[in-house]
Amino acid sequence: MVTTTSQAIAQNASLLTNNASKQSFIGAIIGIVAVVIATILSGHFENGKISWASFMFAQKTNPVLWLLDAVPFLFAFWGQHVSAMISYEAGAMVIDQTQELRTHAAALEKKASHEATHDSLTGLPNRTLFIDRLEQAIYTAKRGDEKIAVLILDVDHFKEVNDTLGHYNGDRLIKQVSLRLSNVIRESDTIARIGGDEFAFVLPKPGGLSSIERLAKKIGKSLTQPFSLENLTLEVQASIGAVLYPDHGKDADTLLQRADVAMYAAKQNKLGFAIYTESLDKHSPHRLTLMGELREAIRQNELVLHYQPKVRSKSGRLCAVEALVRWQHKKHGLMPPNEFIPIAERTGLIQDLTMWVLRTSLKQCAEWHNEGQHIDIAVNISSLCLLDPEFPDIITGLLSSYDFPAKALTMEITETSIMVAPERSLEIINRIHDMGVNFSIDDFGTGYSSLAYLKRLPVGEIKIDKSFVTDMLTNESDATIVKATIQLGHNLGLQVVAEGVENRKTFDALKAMQCDIIQGYYVSRPIPPSDIAAFFKSNVGVK
Ligand code: C2E
Ligand code: CA
Ligand code: CA
Repeated sequence: MVTTTSQAIAQNASLLTNNASKQSFIGAIIGIVAVVIATILSGHFENGKISWASFMFAQKTNPVLWLLDAVPFLFAFWGQHVSAMISYEAGAMVIDQTQELRTHAAALEKKASHEATHDSLTGLPNRTLFIDRLEQAIYTAKRGDEKIAVLILDVDHFKEVNDTLGHYNGDRLIKQVSLRLSNVIRESDTIARIGGDEFAFVLPKPGGLSSIERLAKKIGKSLTQPFSLENLTLEVQASIGAVLYPDHGKDADTLLQRADVAMYAAKQNKLGFAIYTESLDKHSPHRLTLMGELREAIRQNELVLHYQPKVRSKSGRLCAVEALVRWQHKKHGLMPPNEFIPIAERTGLIQDLTMWVLRTSLKQCAEWHNEGQHIDIAVNISSLCLLDPEFPDIITGLLSSYDFPAKALTMEITETSIMVAPERSLEIINRIHDMGVNFSIDDFGTGYSSLAYLKRLPVGEIKIDKSFVTDMLTNESDATIVKATIQLGHNLGLQVVAEGVENRKTFDALKAMQCDIIQGYYVSRPIPPSDIAAFFKSNVGVK
C-alpha cells in the first residue's frame, strides 16, 4: 500500500497521541490509587479502624480528600490535552523538517545532475550531455528531413602549454578558449567540452559543405588573436574535423568517431580543417591501438628512416639528406609519418621518437662520413624537444658518442613549434646552436608572425613550404611568394631551400630565382637505407 508523506505524518501523530493517552491513563490510575489509600488512611485515623463505613465517612467529611478526588480527572484531562498538543507540534515539526530535507535533496540532486552533465572548468556541457543533445538533434532532423553538422575542435600543442606553463595556466587557457568559441556560435548551436583540449559542436541546419567550411574557419579564426596568461601572450591554433548527418553517419557515436577522424586529418594536412571522407577512415587505423603500439615500435626498432636528398641548384650536387621516419607496421605495412607523428606529439612519445631518429641518423651519417661521403644530415625536431632543458645536453652526448661534427647536423624546426613558449624554445635553440648545430625553418610561409621571430632565431636556412613550390609554374601568386621568400631569405643572409620540386621546369625556375638548394621528387624520393649507396654512386649532379 502506498502512503503519502502527509498520511504518514498523520499516522505518526495519532501514534504519539495514543502513547501519550496511555501515559495519562496510567497517571489517572495512580491518582485514583492515591485517593483510595489517602481515604483509607484518613478513615483509619479518624475512626480507629478500616471499614467501608469509615472510608465513606472520610470521603464525606474531609475537604482535603475532595481536592484529591479531582486529581485523577485533572491528570486525565491534562494528559489528554498536553499529549494532543505535543503530538500536533511534533507532527508540524516533522513536516517542516521533511520539507527542508526535500528542498535540500532537490538542490543536491540538481547540482549533482549539473555536475554529471557539465564540465566544471568551463561550465559547458560535457561529453554525456553532448551526446544527449546530439541524439535529440538527430531526432528532430530526422523528422524534418534536415541536416546537422558535427564539428570537433582540438587545440594544437596544448600538451606543450600544460607541460611548460603548468596545469593552472593550461586550465586558464582552456577557459579563455571556451569563451571565445561560445561567442562565435549561434543560439541554436551546442558547444561542449568533450576532452582536455577537445571541444565539440552540434550545428543544426548547417547549409552546404561550403558554409560548414566557412563556419569552421570562423570558429578557427576566433582563436587567432593571442591569448594572455599572466605576462605571456600565447598564440593558439586549432584543428577542426567536420561530419554531416545523415551523410557521414546516422547515430551519435558514428558521427563523433568520424568527426574525430576528420579532426586528425586536419592536424595532418596542416590546414586546420577537414571534412570526413571514407578514404580518411581507411588511412586512419585506430588511434588508441596505435598509441600503445608506437611505444613498443620505438623499443623494438620497428621504425625506419628514409633519406631524401637535397642538392645545390647550381651544381646539382648532393649536399645533405633529410631523415624522414616511417613505421614498418606488422599489420598496416609501411606507414607514413603523418599517420603517427600527430599521435606521438599528443602523447609525449615524440621525444622518444625524436631521440631514436637522431641516434639512428647520426650513426648512419657517421658511417657515410667514414666511407668518404661527406654529406650533412637534417632531422625534423618537434616542439616538445625544444622545451626540454635537457635536450642540449643529450645532443652533446649523441654528437660525441658518434664522433659526429656538429656543423654537419641541421635541425628542421617549424615556426608554429616555437610559438608555444618562444622565450624558452629560443634559449634551448641558442644553446644547441652554440655547439655548432645548424637550424632550418621548415614549412616556411605556413605559420604566422614569421619575421619577428626569424630575426631573433639563430637560423641559417629556410625551407619554402612545398604547398607554394609544387604549383608555382601554374599559380602566379605561389610564384610571387616563392620569389619574394628567396629574396627575403637572402637579405637576411640565409640559405633558401625549396621543397616539393617535382619536375625539371620547376627546378630550372628556382635555379633562375637563385634558390640555393632543391629537394623534391624530381631530385629523388626519400630513399630507404638499402638503396642509398646506389644513389650516392649515381649522383653526379642533376644536369
Ligand atoms: P616535411 O618535414 O615537410 O617533409 C617533407 C615531406 O614532403 C616528406 O613527407 C616528403 O616525402 C615529402 N616530399 C618530398 N618531396 C616531395 C615532392 O616533390 N612532392 C611532394 N608532394 N611531397 C614531397 P613525409 O616523409 O611523409 O613526411 C611528412 C612530414 O612528417 C614531414 O614533413 C615532417 O613534418 C614529419 N616527419 C617526418 N619525419 C619526421 C621525424 O623524424 N620527426 C618529426 N618530428 N617529424 C617527422
Ligand atoms: Ca622537414
Ligand atoms: Ca617541410
